[in-house]
Amino acid sequence: MPHYVIAPPATATVPVANHGGDFPVRRIFCVGRNYAEHAREMGSDPDRELPFFFCKPSDAVLTYGADMPYPTMTKSLHHEMELVVAIGTEGANIPLDKALSHVWGYAAGLDMTRRDLQNAAKKEGKPWDMGKGFDFSAPIGLMIPADKFPDPTKGKIELKVNGVVRQTSDLSKLIWSVAETISYLSQLVMLAPGDLIFTGTPEGVAAVEKGDVLEGIVEGVGIVHTRIV
Ligand code: MN
Repeated sequence: MPHYVIAPPATATVPVANHGGDFPVRRIFCVGRNYAEHAREMGSDPDRELPFFFCKPSDAVLTYGADMPYPTMTKSLHHEMELVVAIGTEGANIPLDKALSHVWGYAAGLDMTRRDLQNAAKKEGKPWDMGKGFDFSAPIGLMIPADKFPDPTKGKIELKVNGVVRQTSDLSKLIWSVAETISYLSQLVMLAPGDLIFTGTPEGVAAVEKGDVLEGIVEGVGIVHTRIV
């Protein structure tokens, strides 16, 4: 038994739908530029890039539709609507045809981004962490078990801000599918139970302001909602 010198931090969790318990979060990986139209709107050529990843702290998750405080040090808070994959079993070098068997569940999530800080970091070749991995930067809806969403290769993904559609696409337009993303990421790190993967956002990212209400849906998975305060 460790003898902690301070109280150990609480484990961040994501609630499972229908009072199905709580999914404990270990790490949060995010895929960059995984829809061609979004890669283009960010000024990249989608055909030339392998997937790349960045991380958020596990306690960046914001659950139960709680309000999201407008973060400090930014004038450009952007929404990125995404399918989130929750890993249930450990694996390294996972073959493509076994990748989905490592998934415990799915949720709808928002990769909230301090775009001005991210763009400044990009320009200077610095890390994205403070543009992406800040407090409350990962609003996430109720999780569903993987057997309730057996085919993550298709399904509408959409985000409304104040009732107006801002982002709309389909999971079929992911450049790297859920299975490919898991297989590739598992070559870089040992995936472990509790890991979340934000799979990337489609085109239409834009700024939000205090008072805005965000409502996202991944058809077949669920919704994510928050209000910026
Ligand atoms: Mn993203």
